[in-house]
Amino acid sequence: AGHSPQVLQVEGLSKHFGGLKAVDEVSFSVARGGIHALIGPNGSGKTTTLNVLSGLYSPTGGRVRLDGRDITAMPPHERAAAGLGRTFQNIRLFRSMSALDNVVIGAERPGNDAVARDRASLEARARAALAFVGLEARAGEPVSSFSYGHQRLIEIARALAGNPVLLLLDEPAAGLNSTEKHALTGLLRRMAARGLTILIIDHDMTLVSDVAAHITVLNFGRRIADGVTAEVLREPAVIEAYLGQ
Ligand code: ADP
Repeated sequence: AGHSPQVLQVEGLSKHFGGLKAVDEVSFSVARGGIHALIGPNGSGKTTTLNVLSGLYSPTGGRVRLDGRDITAMPPHERAAAGLGRTFQNIRLFRSMSALDNVVIGAERPGNDAVARDRASLEARARAALAFVGLEARAGEPVSSFSYGHQRLIEIARALAGNPVLLLLDEPAAGLNSTEKHALTGLLRRMAARGLTILIIDHDMTLVSDVAAHITVLNFGRRIADGVTAEVLREPAVIEAYLGQ
């Protein structure tokens, strides 16, 4: 990994449901290192785009490249092996298993060449990921004993342990209180500072404008703006799209 300056290239991506163009010829790129956000009002096509990127839906048209490699037709598990990490809007952890064992599963990702495959190495990597999100002291506790906000952090740790080329975060702030959101903002900044490449899908403007250097804005399935966050958020079309909510 690490060859193409653009970690993700989305070219003319479309997804139609019958006559509805949920995503309509959308193009954008995510540069290596840092946080890019895909935003837009409800129904603008964010979730559909995410589902196409993660391989859940096959697109009606267009192309997706990860690190220069065409992944458009790859099933989800191959995308994961190619380095596409993700978290889910609805947390998907094994609740009766320990936080550590959940994160070890992330470290075991096929294609993760950052770690040796023996249990001790996987566990060391999982512990480091839990330490990064601030939960290493509770590594042995079952997921069910953690607060909702902490479970989100365990999910992020699991994705981090897999050493992803690109990390997709699906509404990471959903359901968090303001203290947890503040902590998440700090964590996202530390992840960016560490050189990770992250694509956040969210409608929470505050979080996005606090952490993302670049944003792409969708409205009615179309890209209406793309670029440096502070500039994009001043564009009349973007303000109008959000006011219309
Ligand atoms: P967002 O995540 O930005 O709220 P979505 O991607 O969920 O937007 O939805 C975009 C549009 O596509 C909406 O009009 C929605 O009703 C429609 N849509 C989403 N998923 C499906 C589906 N599986 N079948 C039919 N229409 C869908």
